[in-house]
Amino acid sequence: MNNSHSDTSTNGGLLDPYGGELVQRYAADAAAQQLLQRLTKLPRVNISEREFLDLELLGSGGYSPLEGFMDRSTYLSVRDHSCLPTGMPWGWPVTLAVTEEQSDRLPVEGEVGLYYRDLPVAVLEINDCYQWDARDEAIAVFENENTDAPAITERVRDGKTRLLGGPVTLIVEAAESSWNEDHLWPNVTRSFCEQQNWKRLSAIYGMQPWHRGHEHILRHVLDTSDALMLQPPGKETALTIGLPESAGIEAEQALVRNFFPRTRVMNNRLSRHISCERSRAILQQAIISQNYGCGRIYFVPPSTAGWSPADEHTVRALLGHGAEYGLRIVPEFFELTYFCEACDSIVTHRSCPHEAAHHVSLNEADLIEMVLRGEALPPQAVRPEIARAISRTVSHHSDPARLQRGRHLFPHAPEISRSTRELVAGHQSAVLWMTGLSGSGKSTIAHRLERELLLSGHRVFVLDGDTLRTGLCADLGFSREARQENLRRAGEVAKVLREAGLIVIASFISPFRAERETLVEIVGDGFLEVFVDASIETCESRDPKGLYKRARAGVIPEFTGVSSPYEPPENPAIHLRTDNSSVEECVRRVMESMSNIGLLRATGSGLPRSAQLPVPINRNQRMQ
Ligand code: ADP
Repeated sequence: MNNSHSDTSTNGGLLDPYGGELVQRYAADAAAQQLLQRLTKLPRVNISEREFLDLELLGSGGYSPLEGFMDRSTYLSVRDHSCLPTGMPWGWPVTLAVTEEQSDRLPVEGEVGLYYRDLPVAVLEINDCYQWDARDEAIAVFENENTDAPAITERVRDGKTRLLGGPVTLIVEAAESSWNEDHLWPNVTRSFCEQQNWKRLSAIYGMQPWHRGHEHILRHVLDTSDALMLQPPGKETALTIGLPESAGIEAEQALVRNFFPRTRVMNNRLSRHISCERSRAILQQAIISQNYGCGRIYFVPPSTAGWSPADEHTVRALLGHGAEYGLRIVPEFFELTYFCEACDSIVTHRSCPHEAAHHVSLNEADLIEMVLRGEALPPQAVRPEIARAISRTVSHHSDPARLQRGRHLFPHAPEISRSTRELVAGHQSAVLWMTGLSGSGKSTIAHRLERELLLSGHRVFVLDGDTLRTGLCADLGFSREARQENLRRAGEVAKVLREAGLIVIASFISPFRAERETLVEIVGDGFLEVFVDASIETCESRDPKGLYKRARAGVIPEFTGVSSPYEPPENPAIHLRTDNSSVEECVRRVMESMSNIGLLRATGSGLPRSAQLPVPINRNQRMQ
């Protein structure tokens, strides 16, 4: 299917997309269903997180006018000259990599199915397959032969040496469960702005809004625009030197959620190449921003120095080259900010008459040093709520004992891969992670689902919080730290069971979003979040274990829903509302969703579903 959608409109004052049209590459509804059916019969290519993020941008039109992964001539033109073969400036390569063995098994031309985290998400019409040279790309795009940019190192590690080019069609429903939770679609953003009668949408480049200087800049942009779009790097990109990337993300979320109007600050998380050479990153983000309709892109100064006139000139010239192709977004530059005790506010050298002795540094490097030394951050520099979010993540990631323990371990490569186990079992493995308030119905649904799956020939196992606590986790209490550790162990067990080829149904309250994100990191692909949703009133009236009664009486401290928060999933793979549907209906819904994404055995065909598909090669565990 070649489903290229085009929109041309000015959308009430927003800028037209780059090249004039929004080129979207997706199929939805009935077309998506048809495509999905066809896809499951096509040769399979597993894509990485990075490639999936690119796929989203291709599908949604964020990468307009690109229609797919780059063929050789487009790739070389972008790599060596920062432009598409038509001459249109373009910042970074958008490519899909495979190993030599994989590419040898694929058709030279024709369609293949793209899978992300074991889910079919798109069809690629291959029109080119060519050699990839990591070193040349590292030098050209990252300006450093020995770059540690994940976009290069991951592919090298995985032995990927070839690139596949060709147009893609994203299957919206299938891919949705893996959506980058903050990824917006340009057409949705544009029509939302139109509805609000917003004409001035601005983008921000280089924002890591965790200290007050950046907050100051955000407010300034918001005061002069109708709405602003943040484009923080993806989770996989190191955000701030020395801090785990999730610290920056936590901080940014704490700031935007608590101190800014939600609708006027849009979060559009970008990915990957953000660590590429700066002018490429700037150009690319400007292009993407314009595709969303932004008329201005504001440049936050690098942390230790402001923008020099030469820098400004370079950026203006860079974007100016695109003008004849319709790149009309206007760059704006900010001064370096600091806190002045005499002014008692955030200032710049333009607005403050006082000497440096009055200034509290907002230099990120200084602040990061303080975090790593375990010192409290000055409230003039970082809001206490945000400082707490940062130290929480940092302490979780920098447990020295944990780092030490991994030093002398050399796990033996297994001879039987997970995919072989799946082939023998006749279905894929997965972790269905049930999260929800106590009494919402997690255990009831989990056990009923287990029975249904087992009786229909699946290998399945319920991992239950209470059961684990009577054994493996018997040493743990209920403090915040102990709960985190309990969940970490549960995640590790789920991962092992999944490796054994099972469908794991895990039933844990798991109230905090950040902790569930850690679980995704532990389990990896095949993690499906199932939100078992019921109101607190319903759960309390059910109270199957009498826990609410005891929590209300103060016997159980920090009880989720009563004296401790529950952060509902924002984009669960499956959302069950047990308030108004029966156990049977909920189980049926889960089974349907599993079937839609190809997790169940095919019924009636005599052949298990995965036996009809080419066996995916798991990169670390290839059979000899
Ligand atoms: P949890 O494991 O989330 O703490 P339980 O499964 O132990 O919750 O308890 C849920 C209670 O709610 C059970 O008594 C169950 O019979 C009842 N219930 C009512 N409707 C549903 C539903 N649709 N799904 C699951 N449980 C339901």
